[in-house]
Amino acid sequence: MIDTVAIEAALQARLAELENHMARLQGDLRAPLDADYAEQANEIEDKDALAGIEGAHRAEAMQIRAALGRIAAGKYGICRICGCEIPERRLAALPTATLCIACVVN
Ligand SMILES: [Zn+2]
Repeated sequence: MIDTVAIEAALQARLAELENHMARLQGDLRAPLDADYAEQANEIEDKDALAGIEGAHRAEAMQIRAALGRIAAGKYGICRICGCEIPERRLAALPTATLCIACVVN
């Protein structure tokens, strides 16, 4: 049996961290551009990079919320394709995993 209590706590902590960082990124993304054109080019480049990070965070947060949902539903750690129990070692490395290794490879 998987210790979902510890995993849930870790996922919640990571989610809080992501939400915190996303809120800061959104603040930076909304900041008005500098009056200087050369400076604006740099800022736009920075904002593109920040938007990329924000997108990655958003995707990770979505996977974490889905994993928390599976924990709540008692379906955590069950492979989405074959229905087997995903080995604890795999979940420790990737707590949001929805597939066992065999199903990922196939
Ligand atoms: Zn499987």
